[in-house]
Amino acid sequence: MTGRCNVCGARGRFLRLERGREGTVCGNCGSTSRNRAVALTLGRVLGECIPVFAWRRRPTVRVLESSPRGALAMFFAEKFDYYGTEYDPGVIRVVMQPRAFADFQQLHYADSSFDLVIASDVFEHIRRDSEAMRELHRVLRSGGELVLTVPYDHTRAQTIQRVDTTGPTDVHVLPPQYHGGGGHTLAYREYGRDLVDLLAAAGFSVERVELDDPALGITPQSVFVARKDAAVELAASGALPRDRQTGPMLWYRLFVAYKSMSLAPLFLASGRLRGKYLFAGWTQLFRDFMHARQ
Ligand SMILES: [Zn+2]
Repeated sequence: MTGRCNVCGARGRFLRLERGREGTVCGNCGSTSRNRAVALTLGRVLGECIPVFAWRRRPTVRVLESSPRGALAMFFAEKFDYYGTEYDPGVIRVVMQPRAFADFQQLHYADSSFDLVIASDVFEHIRRDSEAMRELHRVLRSGGELVLTVPYDHTRAQTIQRVDTTGPTDVHVLPPQYHGGGGHTLAYREYGRDLVDLLAAAGFSVERVELDDPALGITPQSVFVARKDAAVELAASGALPRDRQTGPMLWYRLFVAYKSMSLAPLFLASGRLRGKYLFAGWTQLFRDFMHARQ
């Protein structure tokens, strides 16, 4: 699959690591097919039809994301007033570090305090997902959007509940299935078309965006946009410009190389690297590491 990455702008062949939503990876920035699907849809929400690295900065747009990973999160941190949070039920950490930790079922943010929320493959891991949807509706401003992906099958009318969560403790209905960096994150369910009804019950208007865009290395998948107090409006999805501009290639090459080969001394030896990206990269690495340990 050859094309242009709509995250970092690189042209070339995408690495096909597996079929499905994830496995088509940009060799430059490491973004997956799902990352690029989220980026493309968020771009349509914002009216941006260029790779994410070239989006204009919106420092007053406050964005909440759960469990961000990789290069896309680094760009978001640069473009927005960005809260890239990890799930942590520990109330103290959540209250003390509102930019780093959050429990979507019980958010410690004021009403109407965010312009956008991104939840990419998060909701299937949330025990009480309808509560989380209501919480996100509460913290979004009027007209604000939630961009959402989950394991989803459009041919399925009803969500498959893998775990019975009606009681105080989890009761496995199906063999437990774990996802995530360390393979420790329990998947509570696999969504069907009733996902739209769940979001509507939380107060959102909803649109499912069906994607299949080989030129961007995006495999067939759905991204949902849910909007508070208004109908969903999306800009047309045009082709990316044909320029050859890319994000900070050197840094990303080193970042990807570092992640795979631990080239720490190279980073430390270079005094000319962009400090901001370096810092963001280390933060992300640390997060990935902590996440894998959980
Ligand atoms: Zn890329």
